[in-house]
This record gives sequence, C-alpha cells and structure tokens, in this order.
Amino acid sequence: MATKLRTEDYRVIEAFRRDGVLRRVYGPKLVPRSENLILISCADGHQLPDIIEHLGNFAFCRHTLTVHGGALRLSRNFPENGNAGYPVGEFLLHQIEEARGLKKTNALGLISHYPCAIATRHSLDIPTVLAMTIDAKVRVQEAMSGVKVVPLFHYCDGDRRRTMFINAKRLR
Ligand SMILES: [Zn+2]
Repeated sequence: MATKLRTEDYRVIEAFRRDGVLRRVYGPKLVPRSENLILISCADGHQLPDIIEHLGNFAFCRHTLTVHGGALRLSRNFPENGNAGYPVGEFLLHQIEEARGLKKTNALGLISHYPCAIATRHSLDIPTVLAMTIDAKVRVQEAMSGVKVVPLFHYCDGDRRRTMFINAKRLR
C-alpha cells in the first residue's frame, strides 16, 4: 500500500522546494562516491528500501542504523516522553562513533521522512521535522569533530517518492 501525503502537507513540501530549503541530492555534496556513508534512518519498512535504493546512486555503501523516527531521535527537541527514559540520542551518538571506526568514514547522512508514524504520534509537522533534523546535525557536530553531516528528508506521496537535501541556511 502506497503512502499518500495530505494535500496540505504536499503544498508545504512544494513551498520548501520552491524556496530552496529542500533540494535534489547532489552526489558530490553528499559523499565522494568511493566513501562509505553512515546513515541514520527511520526503520519504516515501507520507506527504508526506497531510501537505501535512492542513496545507492551516490554511495555504494549505505551503512544504515535504524530507529523509529531516524534523525528525529538525535534532536534535543525530540519529545522527552518518546524516549521512555532511555537516552536514544546518546545511544545513536555512540553508534555513529563506532561506525566511523568500523567503516573508516566520516560521512554521515541524517534522514527524517514524511509521513512518519513517529512524527504523527508526537504531532510533528513538516517544518518541525526539518528543524529537528537540522538540530540533530548540530548535536552530532558538537559531540564529535571531523564528521561531515548531511541532513536529508524523504517523502512519499504514492508513486512520487523523493530523497532531498535540507538546506539549513534557507530554513527560517
Ligand atoms: Zn518513520
């Protein structure tokens, strides 16, 4: 069953694309093709294969760590009750550090997506999801040095599926 966006959500995405907040992923900006890419993504089994396949255009190895909500769980603004007292963000930071060593890479993709069941559960709209993905990037950069973080957003609207780069400078 293909996920459909609500019309108003699709309009929000269209506006962000028009304003240059969401841009097509440009390979060399993402990762040099020869480099391994660590990816933090939502576990959503309906969306993940599409995300991994698309990123295969740019990176041969997508070393994918999944949690419900993906990059949102790294944001300091993620609703506290969503983590049930367990520091999911810190766990992910540890996993990223470990992956850097295991895969000999500093390239990290942080992806959120829409519609996402976790975003719905916590009533996070698209602007909030994008802002939290950028906050996740800042948190990782503050926690560790030398890592190249690329914030990404995937949306699925029936057959229209896109993985896009989030341009933080244009957001807000
Ligand atoms: Zn999700």
